[in-house]
Amino acid sequence: MKPDHFKIWENCLTVIEDNIPPISFKTWFKPIVPLKLNDDVLTIQVPSLFFYEHIEEQYIDILGKTLRRELGPKAKLEYSVVMDKSDSLDNGAAIMNVPTSNKTDLRNRPVQVPLSSDRPNIRNPFVIPGIKKLNVDPQLNPEYTFDNFVEGDCNRLARNASMAVAKNPGKTAFNPLFIYSNPGLGKTHLVQSIGIEIKKNMPEKTVLYVNANKFQTQFTESVRCNSQNDFLHFYQMIDVLIIDDVQEFAGKTKTQNTFFHIFNHLHQSGKQLILTSDKAPVELQGMEDRLLSRFKWGLSADLQIPDFETRVAILKKKIYNDGVNLPEDVINYIAGNVIHSIRELEGALISLLAQATLNRKEITFESAKLIVDKLIKKTQREISVDFIQKAVCEYFGLDVESLHSKTRKREIVQARQIAMFFSKNMTNSSLSTIGAKIGKKDHATVLHACKTINNLMETDKEFKNQIIEIESQIKI
Ligand code: ADP
Ligand code: MG
Repeated sequence: MKPDHFKIWENCLTVIEDNIPPISFKTWFKPIVPLKLNDDVLTIQVPSLFFYEHIEEQYIDILGKTLRRELGPKAKLEYSVVMDKSDSLDNGAAIMNVPTSNKTDLRNRPVQVPLSSDRPNIRNPFVIPGIKKLNVDPQLNPEYTFDNFVEGDCNRLARNASMAVAKNPGKTAFNPLFIYSNPGLGKTHLVQSIGIEIKKNMPEKTVLYVNANKFQTQFTESVRCNSQNDFLHFYQMIDVLIIDDVQEFAGKTKTQNTFFHIFNHLHQSGKQLILTSDKAPVELQGMEDRLLSRFKWGLSADLQIPDFETRVAILKKKIYNDGVNLPEDVINYIAGNVIHSIRELEGALISLLAQATLNRKEITFESAKLIVDKLIKKTQREISVDFIQKAVCEYFGLDVESLHSKTRKREIVQARQIAMFFSKNMTNSSLSTIGAKIGKKDHATVLHACKTINNLMETDKEFKNQIIEIESQIKI
């Protein structure tokens, strides 16, 4: 009695499973369904044309061998490709008859798949028309170079990993490279730098930057036009695929599914994937597990809020690139107050320069302060006298206790005065409350402290910068 197709396929799977990596087995063989067995021909159902192609490319040897062992030397394999439901074909599947007995035979035989009768040529907005060879506009902004990306503690890991990937796309362990952060901290800039660097050194590589939203729109469009396969094939030809803001895929199952196939294809062919997101892979919501687990295969690195020095360095770089000059205290004021986003930092600088040009006036500290203060959303968080004391002491490396001691040491007296100054300006506490909390002083001492600090700020630039910096620390 002949065993049925399930049994045959099961036997094949047992052998195949022992011979390929578990992840490949799970991805490429688990979804296959044995359909029928007619004499020497086993028909298996695969989820997509791409699946069929991939299996033919990667696993035909082992498939052929195991099948011949089961069915004898005349064994043949037939694929049934499941079409997407949105496909207009009446018959749900396309059958391809492919002999497994002879590999050359297999390769030479054109596989006819009635995908759709009038399939348009690969249509993709990124392809530059009129050029025969696949020539993809990488969609890169020439400003977003590594040179223009200021290094700091906040971005060191992400930046170094990006540079490693740019040197050896697809050949490092950082595949995919997954960069995440809050908005405005440099994800797009950094991943574009990788693209620019690769294009510079390896112009033959096909690099593509695409925002997840655009990818999604293109995919939906391809479904509408019945050209999903073109869409899939186009993306599978890319050497370095950069997808920005993948959190936008959340809840979009079909797009995720397609991206999953693209991801697998590229990854298995040693191509580089670079992704960005507003969250770490573990925190992403609405994303399929199989996709999330792949996001974790390579390296995830985050970008953090830059510290004061890095913010100053970023501003200086922009100012230098723009060929303008700004007084040091203005730069420090912007860097000290626009804290949470580099995009806002740039925004403040741009509107400052715009106002100055419009008014044809020199930028002074006062005019800058006015503009910057208007721009930044002042944090409404309640700031307490205790919090201020802590921040001031942290800045100078002192114990809070020392502010409360009777000592007349200059540095402690000054720290105490600064804490009083900020408490008066940033809290609603009365002078006597402030005095009571900071070293049991009376209200006159607090008033005197405020006057002293104001005077010092007017005469000592260095001191004023310190005050600006402390202020920004308190506001974080
Ligand atoms: P995200 O994609 O994280 O929202 P962007 O890459 O769009 O952030 O960055 C916002 C702006 O800040 C861009 O104009 C970018 O050039 C600039 N920027 C971000 N990080 C840096 C950096 N380290 N050095 C210089 N400019 C930066
Ligand atoms: Mg971005």
